[in-house]
Amino acid sequence: MIFLSGGTGTPKLLIGMREVFGEESLKVVVNTAEDVWVSGNLVCPDIDAVIYALAEVIDERKWWGIRNDTFNTHFALKRLGHDEKMRIGDFDRATHILRSELLRGGSTLTEATAVLARRFGVSAEIIPMTDEPAAVRTIIETDDGDMHFQEFWVSRGGSPNVRGVRFDGIEDVRPSERFEELLRTEEIVIIGPSNPITSIGPILRLRGIRDKLRAKKVIAVSPIIGDSPVSGPAAKFMRACGFSVSAEGVLECYEDFLDALVVDLHDNVNHPKVSVFNADILMRDKKDSVALANVLKKIIGDMI
Ligand code: GDP
Repeated sequence: MIFLSGGTGTPKLLIGMREVFGEESLKVVVNTAEDVWVSGNLVCPDIDAVIYALAEVIDERKWWGIRNDTFNTHFALKRLGHDEKMRIGDFDRATHILRSELLRGGSTLTEATAVLARRFGVSAEIIPMTDEPAAVRTIIETDDGDMHFQEFWVSRGGSPNVRGVRFDGIEDVRPSERFEELLRTEEIVIIGPSNPITSIGPILRLRGIRDKLRAKKVIAVSPIIGDSPVSGPAAKFMRACGFSVSAEGVLECYEDFLDALVVDLHDNVNHPKVSVFNADILMRDKKDSVALANVLKKIIGDMI
């Protein structure tokens, strides 16, 4: 079983999945198209969120960064005239420093991620979608011009009107070796309730991935309930990419390879080829996440 993940919805689901399946059995392929070098260190927001969520140190108010972090280095840099676009916490920065040191020492991003996960006491396998660091850039095309995802979301608070989304560099990178290997050995793929455009979209755009998914049993959980996402900018992105902001729109994003979709209790979706299941997909806490994981266990059980 492989998960495809961004940095919020799927990590929330993983909290429940580990209770049901055991943490060691989780293999999570994570989006790296939002990665950026900041002040000399590689920030991988989605990988960090998965590690921090499973290590139970994530700042649950924002779903990124470490709970109760301090920002001394960020403000010290500011006093020196170096204004970082992202407000990075001191403990969070330690993760980025170690990752970058490992990369500079010759480790791949997959290896560096495994070291970090281990040091945080996480036994799930966390795999970057590609081993080429920050080689893909998520660019949001807006009325105010093109900007990196981080500028759109972190600096501009997601306010500009979105015209399109593109992934610069995506054609030039290969999926990580471990991701390719898992696609040969695993039968089930779970797409968590992550942003279908900017979190799952880049993973699907990697060479050969969509074709390989057609040969798998793929189950997705909708990140959209009714006509809005639970959090984040998915609505603007889906609309700009020509999808309706609904569970139906999510299904359309994955239609060519999807076998099953889990949607909210009140959403009504029908499709001739995709099995649709209704469940409470809002994860307010761990209990909700475990309940949703049990729904997925049943769906998987009936599929294999
Ligand atoms: P990002 O990298 O931070 O954008 O994180 P993801 O792409 O992994 O997750 C963002 C998506 O998670 C948003 O589209 C939300 O609607 C969805 N999401 C967040 N919490 C929940 C939840 O409790 N249930 C469901 N179904 N979706 C959620």
